[in-house]
Amino acid sequence: MKPIIDLHFHSIHSDGKLKVPEVVRNLKKCGIKVAALTDHDSTDGVREFRLLASKSGIVAISGVEISTLYENIGLHILGYGIDINHPGLKELFRRQSVERRRSFIETVKHFHRAGFYVDQRKFHYLRQLKTVTKPHIVALICDAQQNRHFLAQKFKFKVDPNSMGRFIDRFMSEPGQIGYFMKSKVYGQTAISLIHRAGGIAVWAHPGAEKEIGSQRNLLRVLGGLKHAGLDGLECFSNAHSPQQRKLFYNLSRRYKLIATIGSDDHDGKRRGKLHVAKPLQGELIYNLAKLLKA
Ligand SMILES: [Zn+2]
Ligand SMILES: [Zn+2]
Repeated sequence: MKPIIDLHFHSIHSDGKLKVPEVVRNLKKCGIKVAALTDHDSTDGVREFRLLASKSGIVAISGVEISTLYENIGLHILGYGIDINHPGLKELFRRQSVERRRSFIETVKHFHRAGFYVDQRKFHYLRQLKTVTKPHIVALICDAQQNRHFLAQKFKFKVDPNSMGRFIDRFMSEPGQIGYFMKSKVYGQTAISLIHRAGGIAVWAHPGAEKEIGSQRNLLRVLGGLKHAGLDGLECFSNAHSPQQRKLFYNLSRRYKLIATIGSDDHDGKRRGKLHVAKPLQGELIYNLAKLLKA
């Protein structure tokens, strides 16, 4: 059955395209009953989201998605039920925002030096955003006609409506690539304990999407480490996972005594309602979530 729970999506307060009222309308249209807005390193939209969602009869949980590092692997940790005024979290978001801006400016400089055109008006608009992300950079580079020619000629790279992921993989993901920049991030373990101190629970987002993990053995090692640091849940049902991965992560969630959560990771209202999760599993999640958030 289609999920009535969606605990992972974004708004304009990070790299999403929709304003909070539009997000709430989309949730309502898709039949979602329990939801958490989880912008990247920001809870700026949470107050408005909770207000509008509850007016629409949706149970809204406060949420956030924190970019972290575990050893050298970039991981996203979701926090639910957090106090959005917690000083430790606020300070972390402030630092992450400064770091994002620094990384944005450096990355654009790298592209410029490599011969790409940079629209200065767009660049100055983007650099003052609070949460500037990789997709913003991709748009800045790929929207310019001369860069499309340059990419096609020099790199045999074709820009099309679905080339965002390919562009990030090819130019911005690994050391040595033109647009790679290593941001300093908070450690996964630190983020988990901060979420706990802010009264929330911590869930590893789309664990199957992190290519840097590589082997199953490494995956189990990272999962064991995060569990040891206090991880509460695993986002098993994600659009980023294949059906096999959903099954694998659900089995792992049981083995490691973690709650199995559902998240579309929607950024524009188009990714929601594509997952299928058995009804008893959704009931189990609501029960576990309520129990954990009350504890
Ligand atoms: Zn993520
Ligand atoms: Zn996300």
